[in-house]
Amino acid sequence: MTQVLTPPKLRLLRVALDSKKSELIHEWLNTEDTDDSTPEAVDGCCRERKRGGAEIELLTRKAVLLGEIVEALRRFASGSYGLCTQCGSPISFRRLSDSPWEARCVACKDLKADTANAIMAQSAYAQPGGAV
Ligand SMILES: [Zn+2]
Repeated sequence: MTQVLTPPKLRLLRVALDSKKSELIHEWLNTEDTDDSTPEAVDGCCRERKRGGAEIELLTRKAVLLGEIVEALRRFASGSYGLCTQCGSPISFRRLSDSPWEARCVACKDLKADTANAIMAQSAYAQPGGAV
């Protein structure tokens, strides 16, 4: 395993991770605030309705992203940041600049995306309620 990222690049990515993490937490808190201040939110039933569909999907996506960022920060601490968690190959700086929380190289990511799409296509009809 070779670490291709130079200390200045690592610093840049670390800053990007930290700011994205703060941004997500900030957005999350603001979402809660907005809901409480709208008149519809007083009614529990409408609040539930507001939380349905697209918004839940968005919150879930943000939660997943936040989890990936926390994992990336953990890899920073352990010294394995920038290496694919699956095959150990170095992840390119360009790829990490786009998504500093990236845990896999292009090859492994594509493989995982294909598998995830297949699973999602199957479970979309199997679980209409989306109970987790
Ligand atoms: Zn890989």
